[in-house]
Amino acid sequence: MRIPFWSRFAGRSRPALHTGERWRNLLRAAGSAPFYAPHTKALREAARASTEEDRRQALLGLPEVELDYFFQHSRHFMPAGQTAPTRELHPLWPGESRVAAVSPWFQTGPRARLFLHPDAAALSRFAPEVIAAPVDTLLALAARGDWSADSPLFALVALTGIGTPLLTPSLRDSLWQAFGVPIYVQFRGFQGEWLAGECEAHHGLHGHADGALIERRASGELMVTSLSNLRHTVLRLATRLHAWLDMRECGCGRTATRLMHLQHLPNAAMASAPTGLASLSALAAAAGASRSPHAAAPPVAREHEPSY
Ligand SMILES: [Zn+2]
Repeated sequence: MRIPFWSRFAGRSRPALHTGERWRNLLRAAGSAPFYAPHTKALREAARASTEEDRRQALLGLPEVELDYFFQHSRHFMPAGQTAPTRELHPLWPGESRVAAVSPWFQTGPRARLFLHPDAAALSRFAPEVIAAPVDTLLALAARGDWSADSPLFALVALTGIGTPLLTPSLRDSLWQAFGVPIYVQFRGFQGEWLAGECEAHHGLHGHADGALIERRASGELMVTSLSNLRHTVLRLATRLHAWLDMRECGCGRTATRLMHLQHLPNAAMASAPTGLASLSALAAAAGASRSPHAAAPPVAREHEPSY
């Protein structure tokens, strides 16, 4: 089985930043990335936007970035003199549950254990209440483990991102049959930052303007501006993902816009992505490998305790 090559970053989390502060930090960082050199004036003006509506309006004055271009020129989006990656905590599960995070690319939190290798036996010993992993890893676990026994497992978190497998209805059925627990999809950015997530109503993914500004092209393609990824400061990234936006109140009572029927655009093959960079999470790992002593090591067949 192919083991995904993810990266995680050491260090403690810091308190969440105010949305306006994230926005200004993002634009300041982008201002020193080569790609945005011709747009420094627009970035400075955009930094003055103080409401979500103003921020959305300001984005319109900045270029859209095609996914292929980003794959091929990722270094042009890395700010000069970058110090540390964003180290905010992105909880995989609210509350105090025992969480096993398998091969993710972000910090896991104090009650979670990170497994770099999707080893069904080691996971079984840990007896997680929640398993969070990329969709393909969950499918690999489903194929390898006997999860119908008296395990305390009560939920799965399916991590999806730009350029990674999505949870289709038939895959959801497969996981349900294998694990017998509900599955919650989380749409995450390249650094593991939360972009949108499924609630208990399982009817679309709730976005939140604190984490990302999501636009929709006339074609239905989503463009994402993550406010938390200062490693690759890319604004208005065309994702090759399609969704409907639903502004109506959800069954859970929340009114945040939901991404409905998230799916890859037809013919959205990653043909031009360089080998090894087929997912943008892998891209983050590859970029980290050349910059950070905490970068991804080759996958190892052992459990790995979080450093905090
Ligand atoms: Zn909801």
